[in-house]
Amino acid sequence: MSSPLVDRMEPHAETIFATMSALALEHDAVNLGQGFPDTDGPEEVLEAARAAITAGHNQYPPTIGIPTLREAVAAHQARHHSLRHDPATEVLITSGATEAIAASLLGLVSPGDEVVTFEPYYDSYAAGIDLAGGVRRTVPLSYPDLTFDPEQLAAAFSERTRVVLLNSPHNPLGKVFTRAELEVVADLARRHDAWVISDEVYEHLTFDVPHVPIATLPGMAERTLTIGSAGKFFSVTGWKVGWVTGPAALVRAARVVKQYLTFTTASPLQHAVAHALDLGAQVLTDLTDSLQERRDLLVAGLADAGLDVRPSDGTYFVVADAAPLGVPDALQWCLDLPAAAGVAAVPVSVFCDDPQRMSTLVRFAFCKQVPVIEEACRRLAAFTG
Ligand SMILES: *Cc1c(COP(=O)(O)O)cnc(C)c1O
Repeated sequence: MSSPLVDRMEPHAETIFATMSALALEHDAVNLGQGFPDTDGPEEVLEAARAAITAGHNQYPPTIGIPTLREAVAAHQARHHSLRHDPATEVLITSGATEAIAASLLGLVSPGDEVVTFEPYYDSYAAGIDLAGGVRRTVPLSYPDLTFDPEQLAAAFSERTRVVLLNSPHNPLGKVFTRAELEVVADLARRHDAWVISDEVYEHLTFDVPHVPIATLPGMAERTLTIGSAGKFFSVTGWKVGWVTGPAALVRAARVVKQYLTFTTASPLQHAVAHALDLGAQVLTDLTDSLQERRDLLVAGLADAGLDVRPSDGTYFVVADAAPLGVPDALQWCLDLPAAAGVAAVPVSVFCDDPQRMSTLVRFAFCKQVPVIEEACRRLAAFTG
């Protein structure tokens, strides 16, 4: 019997994260594959969620999100990025950035419309574009310099371009787009009258380089939907509280779709995230500092194990090249690694349309406790040594 799954979703049936996490479990491997922290977020934030349940915030909140959280998100965008938004019409709370991405694409892209995005890309982008019936036009980011050819980017635009789907800081590469690079993207978006969906879930997790939201560039606020999420920067990835900010007409497009995806987002967690966003910058700085130390630890360990590693400027991830170890195919290497070395990681090729691109690169997560990273590095060095 043929599969009942619609054809356009068949390419998205398997996610590498499930495969790798299953292998990690089976072989008792240290899991540096999936990007979730192995420590909880700030106790005060967790307590706010418990308190919200006790206080009776347990029924449907408004589709658009509770007022205090919309106000906190607007204040956050103003405080950190000098972006001004009306919490009544220009902020939408979503069930994680994943829903924000899907709702934005479904609300803006008609079948046959083209979506320009860089490759490698976060895995939900391809699925979201296919759900909307859109056509993906990818532009490669190069390795190890992590940049792009402006002419290649220009060539990806056409009269059918509807949306540019951008991600900075970038997962999996740990790249933070510079202002000059964003100017190139913005210029093309303006010239082709395209909307920009900007996934900035790692906005606070950058190391010694500034994060520039593309909405802050001239003429871009009026055509950009910016996506954020509490999961990554408060270490509560299981909460799935995200948001979309932008001009009212664009936010409306995402809201109309969100209304029929989830209708609304978990009420007590919205209350807790509103509290978290108002905690002040120290919480964010502490997390970023601790993450940076763990990045440095992992980068040193990967180099010791003989991988060619490029330090990451942001996110939870670092990408390393296994070619110096004589590895021809990182996908096979990653499938073997949990049993052979007791470590799990993810091949970068799964984030690419063309699996030949970046075929020897491996993504490792450093959002783990220091002893966990040390153990992974010990095991890798013993295996490659
Ligand atoms: C984790 C991640 C997301 C999803 O965020 P949620 O809030 O958990 O849905 C979106 N984009 C990127 C780049 C991510 O790494």
